[in-house]
Amino acid sequence: MRNLSIISHEICLHQDTPKGHPECAERYEAIKNRIDGNYKNWSRIQAPLATREQLLGAHTKTFLDYIDETASAALNPVGLDPDTWAGKSGIEAASRAAGGACLAVDKVMQKEEGASFNAMRPPGHHAEPEKAMGFCVYSSAAVAAKHAQEQWGLERVAVLDFDVHHGNGTQACFWNDPSLFYASSHQMPLFPGTGEKSETGADNNIVNLPFSQGALGFDVLEGWKNYLLPSVLDFKPNLIIISAGFDAHKADPLGGLMMATEDFGTLTGLILEMALRNADITGSLRIVSILEGGYNLSALADSVASHLDTIGSFDA
Ligand SMILES: [Zn+2]
Repeated sequence: MRNLSIISHEICLHQDTPKGHPECAERYEAIKNRIDGNYKNWSRIQAPLATREQLLGAHTKTFLDYIDETASAALNPVGLDPDTWAGKSGIEAASRAAGGACLAVDKVMQKEEGASFNAMRPPGHHAEPEKAMGFCVYSSAAVAAKHAQEQWGLERVAVLDFDVHHGNGTQACFWNDPSLFYASSHQMPLFPGTGEKSETGADNNIVNLPFSQGALGFDVLEGWKNYLLPSVLDFKPNLIIISAGFDAHKADPLGGLMMATEDFGTLTGLILEMALRNADITGSLRIVSILEGGYNLSALADSVASHLDTIGSFDA
């Protein structure tokens, strides 16, 4: 693909979760070490802070005020839920993660074809309109989707989520909006407990495909090929946002799925082939990928590389 960019920011190197917490600065460091010096045809951009207007696309004013009053100025991390901690630097990182996702949208919208990877932490897909949860403060993918509609006038935006956990936050933001589509593969039962196949949104705009613990990469790939991707193609999105979580890797300590590193490259290729067919209908091949989970450091870095290698070498 052409017009490739990676968005990142050194704020992600600040540890603002308790010691031993899986969502740690070393995640960013592992990815940075893998990316730096490679991927020379990808331009590098600093993630900006999200504007309040952008965050209001997915969150309530009450929630944003609550974060401002509790965590935004705290020198030590504040517990926002039993798993989610952030102080001043953690909130800055979360804001730049959401702002970077919006900038990724801007970068691909400036061209007919392009892809942008937002390599930021913390993840976002568990954050609901009024609630931080599951390591996530702001719902970056949902914020980016709403930004694409408000800033660029896009009619339809789809989020494709292959993190091992269900993206309850993205689903909650999209539930009542037929112009937004959410497709997810994930393990069940597992945190956060949502993501049954029967959860379809108010307008059949949500498609969930849960897998049992121990499901293989082959199973997940077949699920995307035969069930999730055809439904995304039917929706004809003007923009495809990937919630790229790599904790479905067999080495991940938080998940129980059995994907291998190269399966993430294969899955990325399936998404891109669908996106190319979709571009025949919509006129544009635009991919925004947003880092979500992934907690085994070397598996995370390897899987991100597999994802980026596939995007970079995809012959559109
Ligand atoms: Zn996850």
